[in-house]
Amino acid sequence: MSPSHPFHPSSSSSSSSSSSNHLRPPSTPRPIQRVNSAPTSSANLPPPYVAVRPVPRQPQAPSDSASTQFRNFLVGLSETPVKYENPGLLDNALSVIPLDQIYGEAEEEHMLFKAQAQSLGHFKEEWGYQDCVIRALLRWFKRVFFTWVDCPICPNCRTKTELQGLTPPNQDEIVRGATRTELYKCPKPECQRHERFPRYSDVWALLEARRGRCGEWANCFSMLCRAVGGRVRWVWNSEDHVWTEVYSEHQQRWVHVDACEEAWDQPRLYTEGWGKRIGYCIAFSHDGGAADVTRRYVRNPRLHGMPRTRCPEEVLLYIIDEIKGKRRNSLSDSDKKRLMREDMMEEQEFKEYVAAVLAAEVGAGAAAHLDLQPPSEAEKRPRETGRGEWTRMRGEDGYIGPANRPGGRGGP
Ligand SMILES: [Zn+2]
Repeated sequence: MSPSHPFHPSSSSSSSSSSSNHLRPPSTPRPIQRVNSAPTSSANLPPPYVAVRPVPRQPQAPSDSASTQFRNFLVGLSETPVKYENPGLLDNALSVIPLDQIYGEAEEEHMLFKAQAQSLGHFKEEWGYQDCVIRALLRWFKRVFFTWVDCPICPNCRTKTELQGLTPPNQDEIVRGATRTELYKCPKPECQRHERFPRYSDVWALLEARRGRCGEWANCFSMLCRAVGGRVRWVWNSEDHVWTEVYSEHQQRWVHVDACEEAWDQPRLYTEGWGKRIGYCIAFSHDGGAADVTRRYVRNPRLHGMPRTRCPEEVLLYIIDEIKGKRRNSLSDSDKKRLMREDMMEEQEFKEYVAAVLAAEVGAGAAAHLDLQPPSEAEKRPRETGRGEWTRMRGEDGYIGPANRPGGRGGP
């Protein structure tokens, strides 16, 4: 099957929805100025958003060494999803996915969404068939396919091993794209066996290894989404997490997906569930290039933002434009226009989040006009993957400890 292998044929009824009938038309201009019509007593007003984080105006080329370093780092990261665009790789990926099961589950769930919409008198179901395919893939990936590794189990006596430190990858591991290898030792006196845990960034190797931590999970899952025909972004976060975004044609927007947590469309999970503070979330895709999607994940920078000190905001804008240009230059004019339209719709979505937070801080009265929704129960949960001690150290157990204060360390 080709990499652009379309979704299951039965999706045709819902997958082509494009303009007038989606649930939440993002193109509708929202009355953001309503914020100003809220009570005007200046004591009640939060600082304007620009004071919280200056909005960049003109892109500026990096001119100092820190900015140049950050630019090179982001340009390097932007290659990650480009590596998925390999027909051999995607065919190989399709061969490990139980497609019949995934499509069957997706069809069933889509029917449920349709029935639910009908019973509620809604014109359109919440999620389309394509979305249900990714949701089914997510369940299978988390529950069956991939394994989380803290300390590997000793293959000799099934005891949990202990970390000894890093060791250079051996020849076989290097060939398979390991960038570093962790060395573990079985604590049982009569065993003492050493176990290696090579950290692969190469998706071919991950298809075979099927284990790792968030880096491996997000990388492999993003590629599998691509294999079943989804439009995919790989999202890097400056506080040491990565995840996926998938474009929902049905809702005409990018949807947050975290394979480690089996989380679908729960962008506030990290800040409001894990209690993390976040500086940058940058999304990369093979055709769109790059996007600063931080505002999707950090709704209130005052409560959940980390200082953004890697480079001036104007420089970040320049770097993102540079990566966009690199990926989009070879596209057709109509594809370029489509991506620009999506950029504008996403910017509108982000502005609504900012406005909603400002309104909420002014008072519930103003928020009512802005469709402000509290985080869902699912978004308020602490981290699932990883040991308690490990998540606590990283400040991801929902406790706002030192690791989550500005200047605190998110963990390795
Ligand atoms: Zn052992």
